[in-house]
Amino acid sequence: MGFLKKLFGGGEPREYVDKYGIYFYVRCDNCGTIVKVRADRQHDLNSTDDGYEWHKTIVDNRCFRRMETVVHFDRSYNVTNAELSGGTYVTEAEFNSGQ
Ligand SMILES: [Zn+2]
Repeated sequence: MGFLKKLFGGGEPREYVDKYGIYFYVRCDNCGTIVKVRADRQHDLNSTDDGYEWHKTIVDNRCFRRMETVVHFDRSYNVTNAELSGGTYVTEAEFNSGQ
């Protein structure tokens, strides 16, 4: 019992690190709801000549209006340009403080 516990339960609990996720916070222009959106580096980004591109239709859970976004990244996954129709990009702090 103690042995198994050492095997599987020992050590510090490892924090889950989402190394492929890039997170964005979008506020709906219509109702003000802030939506957290995840872009996956492996599956969601399309390669471009100088980096990557992400297309996404975002829908909040209050008014369900569609927000269309196109984000451009350089090869180091830094955002170089972000366009969004129907909403506004906000910071994580604004998301956490609840609008
Ligand atoms: Zn909305």
